[in-house]
Amino acid sequence: MKRAVFIGRFAPFHKGHLSLMQKKIDEGVPLLILIRDTHYDSYSAEVRKRMIQACMKKLKVDAKIMIIDDIESINYGRGVGYDVCEIEVIPELKKISASDIRTKIDEGDDSWKKLLAPGADKVLEDYLSKKGIVVWFTGLPVAGKTTIADAVSDVLRKKEIRCERLDGDILRKHITKDLGFSKKDREKNLERATFIAKILARNGVVVLSSFITPYESVRQKIRKELEKEATFIEVYVKASLETCKKRDYKGLYEKAEKGLIKNFTGISDPFEKPETPDLILDTENKTVEECKEEVLKYIESLID
Ligand code: ADP
Repeated sequence: MKRAVFIGRFAPFHKGHLSLMQKKIDEGVPLLILIRDTHYDSYSAEVRKRMIQACMKKLKVDAKIMIIDDIESINYGRGVGYDVCEIEVIPELKKISASDIRTKIDEGDDSWKKLLAPGADKVLEDYLSKKGIVVWFTGLPVAGKTTIADAVSDVLRKKEIRCERLDGDILRKHITKDLGFSKKDREKNLERATFIAKILARNGVVVLSSFITPYESVRQKIRKELEKEATFIEVYVKASLETCKKRDYKGLYEKAEKGLIKNFTGISDPFEKPETPDLILDTENKTVEECKEEVLKYIESLID
């Protein structure tokens, strides 16, 4: 039996999409639903496929669902042997938009659930509840962000928990090497880091980010952005300026004090104390091991 083809992004699969297919479903025509594998969508093509599968199963509809490459156009000559139809949908359902649904989800507005196709709502709900985790270490240079984040990462990897490290020094050697340390450039650097953290977390990865992140307003912005896709944990790696100067194993404070490094946080650039950290690591009174354990305990409480 020939199938009626529907092509879309279905991000997510909502009642408007289903109503489009309803006529063919009512006529008993089996469906072939093709999901465009757009790489920019909030949900992977696999998740979208699961949403449609759940719905079709629930409605007992014969539907073959396939993920295809994104398409540039649909081309046909004369006498193709099938119809190309535009289907009328009632205005109430026509106005449902996937992008509005995504906004509702981002804003924590639960009314999106009643807009999804039956069965698809449960799949998306499950998927969203398995959010990734972003641990954002903030603190003065040499406070211990890298050391602690690396130690946490070692343990997670040994436990086969998928995690990724994002480090200010490393990013600045690669994707943000065009940027300096002015307030504007620091913001751009963090914007890019936030973007990477977001797409990793979206895929269930535990992200361990170590960036000085000196400004409270920027930290708040990062939190707001990442909380859309992940559980965000702001970790204040606390060490006084005096301690950091003493530790100064890279000789950075010395250089900054001599004026050899400009815009150096703590010396010639501000570090605003975090106002609402989720965790404070007192690195002057606790060892690296103890700090690591505190972070792991926090992460594990979210995973279990
Ligand atoms: P940051 O990434 O914040 O610039 P680093 O991790 O590169 O800092 O450096 C921190 C330095 O402080 C390391 O030499 C580390 O061994 C030392 N250190 C001493 N005590 C602690 C502690 N409790 N937590 C983290 N680092 C500590």
